[in-house]
Amino acid sequence: MKRIISAAAALVLTLGLTSCARVDPDKAQESVQVIAMDTAMVISTYGRHSTRAAYASEDCIRALEALLSRTKEDSAVSCLNGAGTLELGEPGEELIPLLDAAERYRAETEGAFDITVAPVVSAWGFTAETFQVPGGAELEKLLDLVDGSAVRTEGRTVSLAPGQSIDLGGIAKGYAADKLTAVFRENEVPRALATLGGNVLAWGDRPDGTPWRVGVKDPARPDDQSAFVGVLELTNAFAVTSGGYQRCFEENGKLYHHIIDPATGYPADNGLTSVTVVAAANTGEVPGNGTMCDAYSTAIFVMGEAEALDFWRDRRADFDLVLVTADGRVVVTAGLAGAFAPDEESGYAFETVS
Ligand code: ADP
Ligand code: MG
Repeated sequence: MKRIISAAAALVLTLGLTSCARVDPDKAQESVQVIAMDTAMVISTYGRHSTRAAYASEDCIRALEALLSRTKEDSAVSCLNGAGTLELGEPGEELIPLLDAAERYRAETEGAFDITVAPVVSAWGFTAETFQVPGGAELEKLLDLVDGSAVRTEGRTVSLAPGQSIDLGGIAKGYAADKLTAVFRENEVPRALATLGGNVLAWGDRPDGTPWRVGVKDPARPDDQSAFVGVLELTNAFAVTSGGYQRCFEENGKLYHHIIDPATGYPADNGLTSVTVVAAANTGEVPGNGTMCDAYSTAIFVMGEAEALDFWRDRRADFDLVLVTADGRVVVTAGLAGAFAPDEESGYAFETVS
């Protein structure tokens, strides 16, 4: 029996929304919900231009989906995957810096993050939601196509190696979050909270001046929306979670999820059940830390704990981590020590590492 366990968002938020009936225009608030990129998104903006900003955010996400989706036939990514090469027009040009960023993250993570894993993701049925366990020989053949370093960009033209395709599902929501920071700046939004599935952007602070509170879901209880391992208190930060519980199916009593280890072709199984990456959101770069957090959360899930902590120690100025392990521990890196409130009732053992 195949079954989709849960496509629920990785993070559930504790929102302190003010009423939009207040007179002070700086306290105005607007919220939009967008179903896009295979997930439910909520964007809440504040300030005198909150309504304009909220709808501009929605437009921004829809335009990105039209460019990056693998399931929309006429997206730039689908055209590239179909033809193996694509000359980008003006609206598609931004794909080039995004592909450059993807290549940088592939190299940094020694291939744990690789957008050319696309044919393998499809073989498991995660693209068309026709879940199946592929044969070993089929996976071996497909793994030959996985090599992000073979993606070429020259001017506005992108080309893939024969048979290759790309999947930006591990990076697109993070890139969208980076773009929202630009929308918020343009519209002078002093504070906002955007949850793009497991990608959260906590912009500014809450209306009462305290940090946004972002819950890290307990990956062992995916269907319980109130089950957390702890809460992150964040101001001007991205928090991105990857977990095997978000999109998976069961066959013959075994659970298979959507984060593929490019070294094996199988769902990553290296002892982690969820990875949350936190980084600053006020750098102004697009692609920037939102994209980085998304790529890293996928890659670190593939790496497993020991490799993940080595990776963090080499780059500890750039980001912090909350790792949840299959053996019941929550490992928090030093930079989050004051910002992570563990849920002691959750049954996990908590560790801070430096
Ligand atoms: P989600 O999209 O659920 O938030 P992730 O950001 O971790 O989770 O991305 C997982 C998606 O990325 C998969 O659905 C697939 O499209 C793609 N993917 C799977 N494995 C990898 C990988 N090793 N490197 C890059 N992308 C991947
Ligand atoms: Mg990701």
